[in-house]
This record gives sequence, structure tokens and C-alpha cells, in this order.
Amino acid sequence: MLAVLLARATPAAPAGVRPIPSGSDGPPPVILISVDTLRADHLSCYGYSRLRTPHIDALERGGTLFAEISSQAPITLPSHVSLFTSTYPFANGIRENGQIVPPGAVTLATILNAHGYNTAAFIGGYFLDRRYGMAQGFQTYDSPFGTRVLKGALDLKRPASQVLEAAEHWLEQNSGHPFLLFVHLFDLHQPYAAPAAYRARAPASEYDQELAYVDDSLGSFFEFLARKGLAQRALVVLFSDHGESLGDHGESTHGYFIYRSTLHVPLIFHWPHATETRNSKFENGKSTRVSRFEFPVSSFSERVEAPAGLIDVAPTVLSFLGFQAPESFCGHSLLELAKGGISPPRDVYSESSYAHDKFGWAALRSLRRGDYQYIDAPHPELYDLKDDPAEQHDLLPGHTALAASYREHLAALVASYRSVPATPGASAIAAAPGTAESLRSLGYLEITSPHPALNDSGVDPKDRLFEYKRYLLAGHLARTGKADEAVAEFQAILADDPRNLPASIELARLDVALHRYLDGASRLQAALKLDPHNVEAEELLGDIWLTVGELGRAAAEFHRLLTFAPHDYEAHFGLGLIAAHQGRSAEAAEHFRAALANPRSAEAHYQLGLILEAQNLKPEAVREFKAALQIDPQYRDARRELAKLNSAGH
Ligand SMILES: [Zn+2]
Repeated sequence: MLAVLLARATPAAPAGVRPIPSGSDGPPPVILISVDTLRADHLSCYGYSRLRTPHIDALERGGTLFAEISSQAPITLPSHVSLFTSTYPFANGIRENGQIVPPGAVTLATILNAHGYNTAAFIGGYFLDRRYGMAQGFQTYDSPFGTRVLKGALDLKRPASQVLEAAEHWLEQNSGHPFLLFVHLFDLHQPYAAPAAYRARAPASEYDQELAYVDDSLGSFFEFLARKGLAQRALVVLFSDHGESLGDHGESTHGYFIYRSTLHVPLIFHWPHATETRNSKFENGKSTRVSRFEFPVSSFSERVEAPAGLIDVAPTVLSFLGFQAPESFCGHSLLELAKGGISPPRDVYSESSYAHDKFGWAALRSLRRGDYQYIDAPHPELYDLKDDPAEQHDLLPGHTALAASYREHLAALVASYRSVPATPGASAIAAAPGTAESLRSLGYLEITSPHPALNDSGVDPKDRLFEYKRYLLAGHLARTGKADEAVAEFQAILADDPRNLPASIELARLDVALHRYLDGASRLQAALKLDPHNVEAEELLGDIWLTVGELGRAAAEFHRLLTFAPHDYEAHFGLGLIAAHQGRSAEAAEHFRAALANPRSAEAHYQLGLILEAQNLKPEAVREFKAALQIDPQYRDARRELAKLNSAGH
């Protein structure tokens, strides 16, 4: 996996001769600000009229606003991975939240770190938690999301003010040396929890209330930067990973479709050492919200209309700093465009395989070229974004030749990179353990493996929107303690579409929650007849037998699972527990180690520690308990065992 990200790239030795941008006294610091889930068209600098965002707008003065930027995937982790590695999701293999970026990735952070930059990240939302591998290249990676202490979805995010405060604290100590700072603000992602003062601001939508809060928080942060002289010295880049549908096309959040509501994102570069001044554009706005400070202004273009992608951000940063981009980068620098130059029009690719990976429906892919957006699906669509930015009028019926040429360009783009295949049966989508509940509580579907039996079913996600929404509703009912209503809803889905395996599996989960273990087991056995390599069904079936003490049956299911998913975490962990219970310590230790070879799991370290402790291998046991605590500092059992061993040592 991720061949494209791995060592092929020259890991960027510091360049001997490096053009330092004008008037500089050293390589400029770089500050990347990701405002998660921010639609471009809700910023006043992108033309929004119902709310003013003066602080974000202020970046545009002395900066360059890119008006037509598309996200490469409307999902948090894949979008950020695509941006940091400048690779496409189909080529880097990270297409869903909960996957793990393997070690050895070449990212903007690893490259700048190799050039001597200090690197730090301050994370606002769980999907970029360090367990997913995004911390590579960052010396400091502040993402305080331990799964054991999570009580609800709000524990999976922290407010902008806290993220920015932590970043300011770091800057106080570290701004004297060239640095890369990445801040990730997750407030616009549901569930909403804006401070009361913002919630009182009717009639703004909850989304806009959060946006006003984020903009004000950034205002304070920008004031801090100005006080430290960093507004003058730093390259500041603000973007979002994807938008939010807010009901457009029948979608309420993001991930399922690839319309402009979720693909069109803001991208603003504020250049260091800007000198000119330009008047604020929003003096006549009726709102009283104004920026409390001014960024210095540069001679770069104010606005670039040419379509481009988030994949182009990292190459642009590197080319501005005068560093060479590694071979693995697929994006192009936007610097010439920002300087007012012309560069050849380029194809901008986006995708979502969310409906495919969960339900076996068709994956969606799109190509933007000029004003047109082509969406490849069983019923393809074509839109003229200039005349129809809301994508209400599908032009395809009258423009089949144009659509065909777009389809060819799209296929050519995909063919020019090596794709990571979704191998039938091999768990191409390896999710980290403990991720499922977090995904669910933030409104995503848990995706553990593609469903080979249902792959390429030819079903267009547009035609199953109703079923998808009903599935989400049923999941919501299940999570909010309305198990009976949830059961009825899932059963209704299955009555219409008996091949909806995720609904069968959800029903089995409800059976487990209601202690109807044998019902759940027989439902899963039926699902496995339809799709014999369904990882999720097999994991759950093994867990059910484990729960009811049928250890032989549990072991049989886990062994079967390993035949088609040899690195499956649940299987190794379950087999480890069984072996430990039956006194086969060596075998148990082997399985826990195999479980650890894949994702980071505090539990697997803890269980391995117990085995080693029982074998009187104290230093080894201490190492495992410490490893468990490093992943999850709140892990009480691990702390207790560690204390026991330490006191025994004295
Ligand atoms: Zn996101």
C-alpha cells in the first residue's frame, strides 16, 4: 500500500542555495490553517452575504484567493492526506476515515522537517488523531483524543479557541527558528456546539454561528501573529478539506456525493513580507463585524480564477520556499498563477468511494476542466459551473460527445498513476481498532472492508439516496437508545433491498446489544453466505461466540477470517484472548504481537504486558504497559499494572 508515498521521493536534503523570498531574514515560517467542513461560498470574501467573516477575509489582503479549488475527496482524512502528500486517494490508498497512513509517507511535514524546519500540529478533530498516521514529520503532534474516555461525539472535537491557544503556546517557545505549524479547526463539523454567545445570534444557521465563532477565534490568533511579527514573516495558508451539503442534492453533511457543495473549498495564501496596502473591500457591509488588524499586503494577484485542487497546495508551498518537490507529488505549484502568470488549464480530479465501500454501490469520480464538471457514475452528469454553480441542470443529455471526451480524460488521468487495488477479500481498507464508534457518533458509516460480492453492482448512489438516509436514521435511532425503532427501520430497508448487507450487520449488532446473541449469530451466518469474505460480519460473529463463551466456535471464525484477511486486528486479538484464557501463553503473545503489527492498540499492548508479566519478564512487561499508556494515557488498568511492577522492583 502507498507505494506512491514511499521512499521513491528524494527525502529532500536541505538545499545548498535557496532563493529566500524578498526582504527575508531567513526561510519564512509556514502556517497552515485547515478549517474543516468549510464551504467556500459561506465566506464573505467568496461572496457570501448572510454573514461576514472579516478575519478570514483579512488574509486575502496581502494574499491570493484561489476562487475555484476542489477537494480531492470530501472526507476528512483522505482529503488531508491528499493535500499533505500531494497524491490522489486512488493512488495513495487512503479513501476513508479510520484508515492508517503507513509509515514512510512523504509529506509536506516530513520534507520541511528534513529542511531543518521545526514542525508542530494542533488538531481539533478525531479523524486526524495521531493513531491514523498523519503525525509523520511532525515533532509535536497535539491530538488529545483517547478513545477510552470518550463519552460522546463532542469528545471527538475540541473548540477552535483551545486548539489555537495550544498553538500560540507552542509559538511562544518556537517562533525564533523556521517552523511549519499546522492547525486544524473542527468546529464546523457536526455536532455543533458553538459558545452560547454565538448560538444566541439568530437567525444565522447553526453552521454560520460556528463559522462566526471560528472567524473570531482566528481573529485573536491573527492578532497574536501580528504581535509576534509573524503576520509579516510567515506564509499563511488557509483552506478547508471539504464543504458541507447543508441539504443540497438531498445530502445533509458530506462524503456521499461529489457535488460542488462539498468539493468547492476556500484556499487563501497570505504571502510574507508584503508591503503594499490595499483598502478593505467590505467597508460598506451592514454588519458591524470588522477585522481588528490588517495583514501586510503583497504584489501577488489578489485572485486566481483558474480551477485547481488541494493537491496543489504542498507543491505551491515548496516552490515558494524554493525547495524541490519530491517525485511522488502529483500536484502542481500554483505560484505562477498567483504571480499573475498563465499556466495551461489542468484537469482537477475528485472522488468518493464512500457509498461503494459501505454498500457496494458505484464509486463516484469527477473531472473539472474549465467551467465544466463531469461526474462519472452509472448515470453520469455534466454541469457548467459558470452558469450553474449549484449543479441544478444536468447538461449531459444534450452534450454526450463532450461528456464522452471528459470520461476519456478522467480515465487517462487515473491510468497515469498506479492505483492501490481494492483486492477482493484482502482487507484493503484497514481501519484502526476503536474507530467504529467514533465514526458512528460523528455521523459517518463505519467501513471495515469493501464488499467484493456486491462490488460493481452498477447501482448509482443518486438512486439510493433514500435508502442511505434511512440507513443513517436507523443508525441514529440505534445510537440514541431507540433499539426497537432502529430494528424496524433496518428491517424495512432489508425488505426493499435484501442485499443491503450493512443493514443485516447492523441488525446483528442490535441483537447483540439486546442480548439476543444467537439471533445475531444466525443473521451473520446468513450474511456470510451472501458475501463469504465480509470482514465485518466475520469479526462480529467471532466476537459473539467469544462473548457467550463458545471459545471453539469463536476460534474457528477468527481462523477463517485470517484466511482472507491475514492481518485482521480483531481476529488476532480474539485468538490472543482465547489462547491466554486456555493457558497457551506463547501462542497468546504471538497473536497479540500480530495484532500490534497492524494498528496501534493500547489493549493489545496491555494484554501482551499481562502475558509477559505472568512469565516474569518484567522489563518487557513494563515496556508494553508503557506503550499502552503512551497511546492512551487514561488507561487505568495499564497504569495499575505498571505501578505494581515498579513497586515490586524496589
Ligand atoms: Zn473534514
